Amino acid sequence: MFTGRNILLGLVILILIAFTFLGVINPHRKPSKSQIDTLLVAQAIPKDEWIVEVVPPNGSLYGLMEKNGIPLPEIARVTFQFGDFIDVTTIQPGDTLKLKLTDDKQRIMKMSFIQEPTLRHLFTVTPDSLIYKEEQLPVKTVTKLLKGNLSGTLSNSLKEVGLPLQSAQQIINALETKINFRRNAKTEDEFQVLADLRYFEGKLIPGGKVYYVSYKGKSAGSHELFRYEDPSPKSVLTGLYGPDGKIVRSSGSGVGFPLASMHVRSKFGRRIDPVYGGWAMHQGIDYKAAMGTKTYAVADGTVIAASYSGGWGNQVRIRHPNGLITQHAHLSAIKVRVGQKVSKGQVVGLVGSTGKSTGPHLHFGLMKNGVWINPTNLNMVATRELTVIELKDFHQQKQKILDKLQQYK
Ligand SMILES: [Zn+2]
Repeated sequence: MFTGRNILLGLVILILIAFTFLGVINPHRKPSKSQIDTLLVAQAIPKDEWIVEVVPPNGSLYGLMEKNGIPLPEIARVTFQFGDFIDVTTIQPGDTLKLKLTDDKQRIMKMSFIQEPTLRHLFTVTPDSLIYKEEQLPVKTVTKLLKGNLSGTLSNSLKEVGLPLQSAQQIINALETKINFRRNAKTEDEFQVLADLRYFEGKLIPGGKVYYVSYKGKSAGSHELFRYEDPSPKSVLTGLYGPDGKIVRSSGSGVGFPLASMHVRSKFGRRIDPVYGGWAMHQGIDYKAAMGTKTYAVADGTVIAASYSGGWGNQVRIRHPNGLITQHAHLSAIKVRVGQKVSKGQVVGLVGSTGKSTGPHLHFGLMKNGVWINPTNLNMVATRELTVIELKDFHQQKQKILDKLQQYK
């Protein structure tokens, strides 16, 4: 009897030890992606109170929120401020939106927006603003000098040495302004690329920076490109430049940008109006910009309007030689007058919040045959040359890149 009890006691102790071990070991195991999801959702809020929606093809955040019975003025308010943090043109089918509502479903309390597995945009919604927090999951970044020879297309050759498609495309766009690939690219042409490669859970993901590109060929000649990173986020100036700091993108023929930093807050098309809170057509693109930011003519033309005009506030309209009209609205100041000839890149006004507007931003419109059309039809590509100050910065950045290249010699 005593022996039996001892065995039982021994078993209980063994089981306790086993449980203790499991308990200690488990937290040190790397959680899987789904476990991370569960952990995040589990923080303070019961899991079942989050509404999880996935953006469908041709879908929008408006639609996802409306579907859940949230009143339109609340959707208008939240989506409008959302655009301050997320460039809405990056919203894609498959992106995930998580919502936590008040019990009466009249207000949004919290939002989480997930576009790529490594990054979560978390929002706390207060009655008058959104509080934004970015949560970046650990990404491994490795800077590498990749070397290769052309075999087949440049796109394939770059992929073969390990570059993601997005970086390859950036390099091709830049090199195409220097080299006529159809005529002069030859098998065995040599290329080198210094770039960041980003990995998440062992997989190559896009978003790595390209610092340096060299291309050498018998017919193509020798070409070098260096990255310049402008200090302001989303600057149109950030990209690849020649060794002298000259732009390599097709500058002459292309249409320019209306702002130096491009962040779309509200797209062209049907949206819930930020002022009236009902579905309405948005006849242009709203770009995020601070009060007083310079706005530029995107192409040569003649000013046909330069005054205050109702809901548009202070607006400038320019007629271009091809008949298209561009519009810059809600300006705080107008820098041109009617009849004046303007050239691409010329300052036409300063960003403001005049007319029907809820805060400083640039409304940019495009009119064809009397009808507002989507300004993304313009395919803006051209940027200006770097200024003297920016050039100095470029040469410092270039020296750092050259130093880094030395480490691989
Ligand atoms: Zn607008």
